[in-house]
Parts: sequence; structure tokens; C-alpha cells
Amino acid sequence: MPTLYVSHHACIDHDTGDFHPESGDRLRAVQRILEAEDFMLLHRQEAPAATDEQLLRVHPQAHLDRVFRTIPAEGLRHIDGDTLVSPGSGEAARRSAGAVVVAVDAIMRGEVTNAFCAVRPPGHHAEAERAMGFCLFNNVAVGALHARAEYGLERVAVFDWDVHHGNGTQDIFQTDPGLFYASTHEAGNFPNSGFPSERGVAGNIVNCPLPPGSTGDAFRAAVEQTIEPAMRAFRPQLVMISAGFDGHARDPLAHLRLQVADFVWATQRMMAIADEFCDSRVISVLEGGYDLRALAGSVNAHVRALMGV
Ligand SMILES: [Zn+2]
Repeated sequence: MPTLYVSHHACIDHDTGDFHPESGDRLRAVQRILEAEDFMLLHRQEAPAATDEQLLRVHPQAHLDRVFRTIPAEGLRHIDGDTLVSPGSGEAARRSAGAVVVAVDAIMRGEVTNAFCAVRPPGHHAEAERAMGFCLFNNVAVGALHARAEYGLERVAVFDWDVHHGNGTQDIFQTDPGLFYASTHEAGNFPNSGFPSERGVAGNIVNCPLPPGSTGDAFRAAVEQTIEPAMRAFRPQLVMISAGFDGHARDPLAHLRLQVADFVWATQRMMAIADEFCDSRVISVLEGGYDLRALAGSVNAHVRALMGV
């Protein structure tokens, strides 16, 4: 069965200003790559806007109100030092979360095996009650709780290989034994959370910080020795990936030295777990990645891996 590609042009219109690393050019680069002939076999779908009901499974009404109230009629407005919103941000944020919702629907109805959601703003720093770190709503969490509410899944696992710790996803998942969150990230980088001692209510949080300068060897060891055993013990019914590509050696915001081959390897490892436990169901959702060449090359190889080509 095919791989689904979900995106929306509105996600480009989330304007963060002229010098912000999390820019619309990131999504343009990703979309351009996936227009290549090699990707003709992808199923393509426009991301719908997530409804209030879907967002409210993760975030309280007060958070929605705060985010939408902050969005200006023109210009830019800061939510915090590096999280900005513009007139298009509300639509972009709803479509980003909605992309994951529609990917869950397509997979659970058996129309596709796996999916890649090319979205922005990213989501993994968004806590239940707090937008931060370029993120407004937690896209992956909205998808996970949609899978539970609509399809009765009892165990959803997320592996977050973005170079930053996904404090938001951990915040939302840590008290819920039906949700599993594992992260590799650069120790000491933003947001300075994600210590191995943070284990969640049922050992359902697994953090593997890597020292600055770490290469693929350390990354792969953490996945094989720590994350995969915990994820297998959890027996996921859906495997999700918070796919940030800012661990790449070229990335300007961090200091890991991962290569495209490491992302391909990790993709295949997650696919193998999904083969074993959940009919190969994998949903990958774009998070960070700020060097446009590294981002495009990584997405190219990552989506090929999902397609099995
Ligand atoms: Zn990141």
C-alpha cells in the first residue's frame, strides 16, 4: 500500500519575519523536493483545518483562546522571544494539526500504510497550556489522541529525533500510560529538558540526551539499546515520528553531526517496529530542520524510506 503525503500551502503563510530560522522557505524546499518524478506514487492530500474538538483533546480552551487572540490582523506579534505569529498563523496551525488527523484517518481506514506530514508551525515544544519554541499546537499529540478517540487505539508511541527535546509532547504524554514518548536530543540545547530521570507515570517517557558533537554512532546506539526495547515493551498500535532534521551536521541551531543515512536508518528501524506490532502503521510529522539543503536532502531520503524505494 502507498505512502501518503499531506501538506498545505497555508502552512507557508505562517510568517515569522525576515530573519527567523523557522521560515516558509523550509516548507517550500520540502514541497519542491517532493514534486520530483520519483515521488509520483505518493498519495497526496491537502491538510484540512483541525477542528476545535480535535485541538481540545490536547489543549484547554484557554490555550486556544490565547493563541488565536494573539494573532494580529497585520504584521507580526511575539508569543515569546522566538515564537511569532502573523495573520496566517491561525490557519497554518490548524492545518498542521489537521494534517496529522487526516493521516490517522487514511491509515486507520487502510487506504495507505504510512504517511509524511510536511507542516509548519512545528509542534513538539507546544505544551498543553503553553505555546513556545516556534510551536503553537502539538500536532503529533493531536494525531495521537485522534487515533484514540476515533479508532479506539490504546497505545500510541512517538519517537522524536529532532535535535531539541520535545518538552511539549512529554508534558502531554507523561501522565498517560497509553501514550509513549521517546526522544534523542542534544544535551544542553533548548529547551534544557529531557533528562533520563524524566520517565513518566509508567516508564512511558524515555529520554536519551546526546553530548554536543555526537555522530550517528551515538544516535544509533541510543535507539537500539534504550528506545527500541522500551518501545517494544510498550507494544504500540501506531508508531509516530516527530521528524526534525536539525540533528544534521549542517544545521545552524545545534551541534549534533547526524547524516542523511542516520535518518534513513532510524526511519527503517521505526518501520520494523511498526511491521512487528501494528500492520506497519507509521506517521511521520515534520518538526525542525533549519539548513535548507540538509532539510531537503533528509526529507527526500526519509520519504523514500517510508515508500520502500
Ligand atoms: Zn528542533
